[in-house]
Amino acid sequence: MTPVFVDPDLTRVGFAKNILESAGISCFVQNENTRSLGVSVMGFSNPALLDPALFVTDETQVEAAKELLRDHFATGAATAAEWTCPACKESNPSSFDECWKCQTAKPQ
Ligand SMILES: [Zn+2]
Repeated sequence: MTPVFVDPDLTRVGFAKNILESAGISCFVQNENTRSLGVSVMGFSNPALLDPALFVTDETQVEAAKELLRDHFATGAATAAEWTCPACKESNPSSFDECWKCQTAKPQ
């Protein structure tokens, strides 16, 4: 079975799970609790093997799930850096110091 998403941060894996579930893709998380145990108690030399991993129940949905997550995490990062013009409500990239549409200065 192939994980569709692996991240040492369980919060991000849980977030990915929510995305898939809201898109109607059934999925589950493995290694939810094993990571810290594996590293500290069992002395695993490769903690990456124990990172929380997200799997889809239906293998035929693996590609769809990966694409969904890729899109989501890509646009999610871009959206976070954007700012909204207080005058015209247009979204601007973080690198812009004034609104591309109405030239209002970026709010502090
Ligand atoms: Zn504007």
